[in-house]
Amino acid sequence: MTNEKQNMAGLSTAQARQLQNKYGKNELTPQKKESFIQKAFHIICEPMFLLLIVAAIIYFFLGEPRDGAIMLVFVIGMISIDVIQEWKTDKTLNALKDLSAPHIKVIRDGEEQTIASADLVPGDLMLIYEGVKIPADGVVIKCNDLCVDESSLTGEAEGVWKVNTDAAPEYTDYWRKDYCYAGTLVMQGTAYVQIDKIGASTEYGKIGANIATAPEEKTPLQKQTGSLVKTCAGIAAVLFALVGVFTYLNIPDHIFKDRIIESILSGVTLAMAMIPEEFPVILTVFLSMGAWRLAKKNSLVRKLPCVETLGAVSVLCVDKTGTITMNQMTVQDTWATNGDEKSLVTVMGMGCETDAYDPMEKAMLAYCEKNGISHDELFGGELITEYPFTNELKMMGHIWRKDGKIIIAAKGSPERILTICAMSDAEKTEFEKKINELSSNGLRVIAVATATPQTDKDIPAKITDCSLTLLGLVGLADPPRESVKADIAVCNKAGIRVVMITGDNGVTAASIAKKIGMKNYDHIITGDILNNMTDDELREKVKEVSIFSRVVPEHKMRIVKAFKDNGEIVAMTGDGVNDAPALKYADIGIAMGKRGSEVSREAADLILLDDNFTTIVETVKDGRRIYNNIRKAIGYVFTIHIPIAFASLLAPILGIAPVALFLLPLHVVLLELIIDPTCSIVLERQPAERDIMERAPRNPKEKMLTPGIFIKSVLQGLVLFAASFGAYYTTLAGNEANAPVARAMGLAIIMISNLLLVQVNSSECDFAFRSVARLAKDIVMWAVNIGTIAGLIVIFYTPVAGLLKLAPLSATQLLSAAGIAAVSVLWYELVKLFKKLFGKKNGGTK
Ligand code: ADP
Ligand code: MG
Repeated sequence: MTNEKQNMAGLSTAQARQLQNKYGKNELTPQKKESFIQKAFHIICEPMFLLLIVAAIIYFFLGEPRDGAIMLVFVIGMISIDVIQEWKTDKTLNALKDLSAPHIKVIRDGEEQTIASADLVPGDLMLIYEGVKIPADGVVIKCNDLCVDESSLTGEAEGVWKVNTDAAPEYTDYWRKDYCYAGTLVMQGTAYVQIDKIGASTEYGKIGANIATAPEEKTPLQKQTGSLVKTCAGIAAVLFALVGVFTYLNIPDHIFKDRIIESILSGVTLAMAMIPEEFPVILTVFLSMGAWRLAKKNSLVRKLPCVETLGAVSVLCVDKTGTITMNQMTVQDTWATNGDEKSLVTVMGMGCETDAYDPMEKAMLAYCEKNGISHDELFGGELITEYPFTNELKMMGHIWRKDGKIIIAAKGSPERILTICAMSDAEKTEFEKKINELSSNGLRVIAVATATPQTDKDIPAKITDCSLTLLGLVGLADPPRESVKADIAVCNKAGIRVVMITGDNGVTAASIAKKIGMKNYDHIITGDILNNMTDDELREKVKEVSIFSRVVPEHKMRIVKAFKDNGEIVAMTGDGVNDAPALKYADIGIAMGKRGSEVSREAADLILLDDNFTTIVETVKDGRRIYNNIRKAIGYVFTIHIPIAFASLLAPILGIAPVALFLLPLHVVLLELIIDPTCSIVLERQPAERDIMERAPRNPKEKMLTPGIFIKSVLQGLVLFAASFGAYYTTLAGNEANAPVARAMGLAIIMISNLLLVQVNSSECDFAFRSVARLAKDIVMWAVNIGTIAGLIVIFYTPVAGLLKLAPLSATQLLSAAGIAAVSVLWYELVKLFKKLFGKKNGGTK
């Protein structure tokens, strides 16, 4: 760096901006942006638009430039809808990406700030601590016990201890000890690092550039719809040929050129009606809007496919502390072995960190304060050394020199403290009785022990080598979050197993589990039992057991695997660095936004911003809603295309003259202009069905388009076809001159039905008037409904009617169109009634 005298004030915002202009963003591969023209071009290349353009050209060819021009106006309308939609989803997805992108603490303008890692510039002073994944290369300015896992770069599994740059000896190794590298992981300690290289110039960038550009994979649903679209397109191609030939044979009185053109035109109309170009749009819009709605409810989706997986979750593995409980501890009860409360509480306090971070230690220090033991009394001496806490040991200790005396203050899980305490069998029995008493009240029980070695030499090197005197037990309460009980009840109804994972003792866990209404709360697997089980045994066991106690993060992987091997779809929470592999392996890995480490966040599919169990349940519910709406939308697209496709198919067979056809390409496009917003606006915002959390999780193997939905859509579509085409056909009465009004009749029926169809299909169990009532306050719904009616008025009763080859309907005609439309859609309400009266409650999707 140019700046020799390192300044701890960091950069100013202005400097940072300048540097960013010079060096760019801290990204491995710069994001490419599609220009507007490119986007429009991509859309035009879709088969639907190619067909439209062919149709427009044919019109110009036919010497009907007016028709051709109207077509083009429509095409532009459709392209605009698509471009706007894409722009909106892009914006949504980018906003989500920014929210869930890695962040880092830096010193800017002299104060600590959190910025996106991508905004780091050379010269920035960043702050790193345990769990941070280092985002750029830089010099260690000041560090405290900094240990970094550099295996991603060097392959060395052993952590590297870093040193301050002033203290660094002349290094000969390529990998410097006073330098931090992007892509490596802070295992311990803290440091200030001055950024030196960013983005592709980092060591990681040099080797990792090609890893980072892995293309985004298609979601399972996208793959499914892809093949659905292909099937439909195949059928469309065959019918295109058939209809073309039919039309050709039908009009022997026309000249050859006209025959050809008319056949192509009717074929094109049919193909347009049949290509389900809405399907891919539905998916991206529904998934991205879904993710956006989730983000507003504190749950950040990092990977889009997880929105669809969410609805299939059948097992929810959650950490007890902080997710199920509030992580607000208080010392509730103490028990001193020899009645000496004061020593117990003092040693407990001395065993805590001087500036405690852990909620449990905070509670302990608060308790000391309450009992008149001051901070000075606890930490006034000299801290000689400490035995650090590890998940495996589940205990820790501090060794103080105070008033010339050496004091070991140890605390931890009673089972473990027991192993380093000397006591008689009778004492042990009493001790165990007390532990049980406290933990069966749902308290976390911590044992406190001490020793006073004579000299420094007598201090054991490891906590496990100590021989201590037990002082007593402390019971801490960490009450369950208020809403958890209700949430568990929801999960039970929804067929979702809740599994509690905790480092705490089994009795405590069981007591909490019972309080919150978990099933099978008295079946427990402890970490020790788990260690002695084979994977097969575990797989059998997890069919009943829902509580895992005294586990370490490494066990989580096995637990997820056991559930997955049983065919479950598993969501799992985790916050620590060691949780990352299990989070990756789970179908839905959930990281904690508040207390989670950066590494766990990066491994997760979902980040929970409020660390709250309720939010997980809400998210699953939303996942179900979104999936359900996608299904409804796909069904809707089928239904609404049937009258259009059949009309194009049947006309030549019935020998209707080309000028008198029900739907000319123009009208197909007009309908497409209505269908698109119906899907992406109206169906997307359908609220969850009332009983959505009373159904079993969906079978992940089940296809999106089940036979049930398919049959329903086809039936609804056929009725709609019969109504609209029948009305058209009878109004036409074989006379070409009646065509405009006959067409208007048919179109009015389809458009009005379209409005009603959405309400009817809004719920599988509730009647349409209920759906209407639910949406009565939704402005967007009103806008769409009023828009459709306004559209009807414009195309029938203004000069536009002439351009579109339509004629105004009389009041009677309009009313009968509305009546026919209502009957042709609302008949399905009778099916619902029938199902309600006679159907068995099977909770299926249809
Ligand atoms: P959880 O999964 O409930 O968050 P932890 O892994 O944090 O549990 O803790 C597991 C056990 O380790 C606790 O029940 C306690 O016995 C012990 N423990 C945790 N933190 C400390 C600490 N700061 N000092 C002593 N013992 C601790
Ligand atoms: Mg914990």
